[in-house]
Amino acid sequence: MHYFDYRNDELFAEDVPLAEIARRHGTPFYVYSARTLRRHFRVFDEAFAGADHLVCYAMKALSNLSILGLFASMGSGFDIVSGGELARCLRAGADPARIVFSGVGKTDEEIAAALGAGILMLNVESGPEMRRVSEVAGRMKKNAPVSLRVNPDLDPGTHPHISTGHRDSKFGVPLSQVFEYYAEARSLPNLDIVGLSTHIGSQITETAPFAEAANKVASIVERLRADGFALKHLDLGGGLGIPYQEEPPPPALYAKSLLEPLKNLGLSIIVEPGRVLVGNAGVLVTKVLYIKETDVKRFIVVDGAMNDLIRPVLYEAYHAILPVRRRAARSAVVADVVGPVCESGDFFARERELPEPESGDLLAVMSAGAYGFVMASNYNSRPRAPEILVDGSEAHVIRERETFDDLVRAEKLVILKTK
Ligand SMILES: *Cc1c(COP(=O)(O)O)cnc(C)c1O
Repeated sequence: MHYFDYRNDELFAEDVPLAEIARRHGTPFYVYSARTLRRHFRVFDEAFAGADHLVCYAMKALSNLSILGLFASMGSGFDIVSGGELARCLRAGADPARIVFSGVGKTDEEIAAALGAGILMLNVESGPEMRRVSEVAGRMKKNAPVSLRVNPDLDPGTHPHISTGHRDSKFGVPLSQVFEYYAEARSLPNLDIVGLSTHIGSQITETAPFAEAANKVASIVERLRADGFALKHLDLGGGLGIPYQEEPPPPALYAKSLLEPLKNLGLSIIVEPGRVLVGNAGVLVTKVLYIKETDVKRFIVVDGAMNDLIRPVLYEAYHAILPVRRRAARSAVVADVVGPVCESGDFFARERELPEPESGDLLAVMSAGAYGFVMASNYNSRPRAPEILVDGSEAHVIRERETFDDLVRAEKLVILKTK
């Protein structure tokens, strides 16, 4: 569900033609739909209405200040994975009491910043990290609210690079040792053990792995309670997929599969959706430069590239590609849609059937809101694309296109003497 639709064969973001944005701001650019973002947040939040819950948007999926501000204004909390993300969401108006801090490699500085801000809890993932959090909190004469991230050892059936709940993965503490870890946490000073957390992966398109994870953590929580741990929060992570090609379950079914095994525990439930809130709310618009034909293949060379959107090569991800203007009587061609970067991995689609475009046409790479701009780089000295947020008939520039000066801002030209 999103608000990118054709009107008279012109693709619009809400009430704004994408071609109009291209005329004004050039290509490539990212454009997000505020109406879609609001709707996704509301539908997701309402799916958990029956339970004491907090939605903490996993901001690594899309972290522009204006997007964070929009979610904060709707009451969203935030799942952060770095000190940079902490600073970013606070800048956008986040309530520190609704921030959870995930990740396997928190530094002393990041731990101190989180404790200083007064966040809801740190999800710790190893013994050494637990000891470090205890130490830093001690130095600050504070108690650190922590939950332990448990690796439930299951296969969520998603791409290996975005699967985190298998015991081979670096994430969480092993199921078999959970009780030892909790016992150690209890023995350390300056820790308040307030919860348990888990996160099994991303772009998961069935409910079964979520139900399995919920069942596993439910029995752990019961035993921990029997051992005298007063757990308040159960953080179930994120991971619900979006329809790139496959059809994931709607948020209501997802919520049911998570909540059913937990209904008698009386815990406050935290969920950390990333992709499902923002994925379909953004598209990347790019211009066709050349149609290149060899004796074996056809390439559509566009001005966007892997530095703008790396998901196709990083995760073998499928993104639908639509013409911004539909033309009648265009025959379909099969082509690779590729960018100008000097890498064979620089493609948005391979062997894709699409209406034959011509040089100058605009293409929309759909469902690019999540893990799109945030993973953009300056590889090949390409300035990062601007981000535009459409709200009804208004288009706001929420990040400008980078310039050459931006590219070299932190660099020093040191001219060495020839020896
Ligand atoms: C990445 C991540 C999420 C969000 O995953 P999505 O698939 O985008 O919903 C949630 N929690 C943690 C701990 C994460 O690392």
